Amino acid sequence: MTHLIHRDLRCTPPAAVCAFGMQVRDKDGNTYLDASGGAAVSSLGHGHPDVLAAMQSQLKVAAYAHTSFFTTEVAEELGERLAQDAPGDLNYAYLVCGGSEAIEAALKLARQYFVEHGESERRVFIARRQSYHGNTLGALALGGNEYRRRHFEPLLMDVARVSPCFEYRERRPGQDVHEYTANLLQELEAKIIDLGPQHVIGFCAETVVGATSGAVPPTPGYFKGVRNLCDRYGILMIADEVMCGMGRTGTLYAIEQEGVVPDIVALGKGLGAGYQPIGAVIARDHIVQRLRSGSGVFQHGHTYVGHPVAAAAALAVQKVIRRDSLLGAVTVRGAAFKRMLREAFAMHPHVGDIRGRGMLLALELVQEREGKRPFDPDLHLHAVVKQACMDCGLMVYPMGGTIDGRRGDHVLLAPPFIATEADLQQIVARLADGLERAFARVRPA
Ligand SMILES: *Cc1c(COP(=O)(O)O)cnc(C)c1O
Repeated sequence: MTHLIHRDLRCTPPAAVCAFGMQVRDKDGNTYLDASGGAAVSSLGHGHPDVLAAMQSQLKVAAYAHTSFFTTEVAEELGERLAQDAPGDLNYAYLVCGGSEAIEAALKLARQYFVEHGESERRVFIARRQSYHGNTLGALALGGNEYRRRHFEPLLMDVARVSPCFEYRERRPGQDVHEYTANLLQELEAKIIDLGPQHVIGFCAETVVGATSGAVPPTPGYFKGVRNLCDRYGILMIADEVMCGMGRTGTLYAIEQEGVVPDIVALGKGLGAGYQPIGAVIARDHIVQRLRSGSGVFQHGHTYVGHPVAAAAALAVQKVIRRDSLLGAVTVRGAAFKRMLREAFAMHPHVGDIRGRGMLLALELVQEREGKRPFDPDLHLHAVVKQACMDCGLMVYPMGGTIDGRRGDHVLLAPPFIATEADLQQIVARLADGLERAFARVRPA
């Protein structure tokens, strides 16, 4: 019996009673190795003593201070740290409570940026198919995940759509990767021209696609091309780094590896690493400068923006990442992890692709490798895999609809940055076991 509205109203998940390091234990005494950090959240694992200590000391200083009355030292310090570590002149942070809130704030900031300049006819965002930007109405409208959107379609603002950069599925056989990338950029340019650049606010994309299609990195030069188009047509480039940011791919911001600076970046998940609900919008100088010299206010705000304990947690997470050189660890151990996955699954008849960056990796599951044919979506293979892995004591983050929101399955892996080689080997062994059980369960009898 439960009085909570769980994700699945017919099934209450096991109760977590203890979480430490790489492990989560449930009430029945089962332990699970956390190979997904929840949804790529717990980048320092569970119960990290430095983060807990920072939160406790902030609680004694001030648990809460409304931002219309006060700022706090801890929030200021987090802002400074985020600005210092961000590429280019991404020098300002707006602290919210999660990824969807960060996207909402980013959309409003981008719109206000143009309104302050007398360009109030700008009202359209461009985003990609097969994307996820959050579950609140604005973020949901922006995202291109048909399955998540369908019930709410009449409530959603219009967003223009272009193709995702999804090489495994969308590059034609024989087409070279530069040509594939050039075509995507042409499509984006055509879309901007078609809408009329004077009506477009910005283009938003995940630097590395997370849960929707499973750890899909951009092709070389894709984001350079996007940046050029945004500059040419005077529209804003917004990077959704809610999942891929804060070290997950081996650099603090995933976009650093693309050699460009977006105008606005949205952060969430790994920012607080699960210790507190926190997200952030990071904006470049010219964005904040225009608002400051215009109306002087950002027309936004929530009760819990800039929450001091959340800021303390996020700041402690940032300090641990730096002190313990965890970005390097993500790069090195992420590469080792990918090798292990390749050794275990590269020849597997139902593993079509092994991809990702740093500690954000995925396996795409297929019925048949040659033609990349997916499993019948009615089998809900992703859900079967999730349960089978839980039965093997392993948390992974599988998702269906990899290809078009309905067809395709993948398994997302996002272990904590503190995972050792032995932990990663254990993950691969349990995953092999879990996958075999899952394939056996969906095989026709
Ligand atoms: C999770 C996620 C969001 C939404 O974040 P919430 O904290 O769940 O609101 C937005 N964008 C991306 C890419 C995400 O992975």
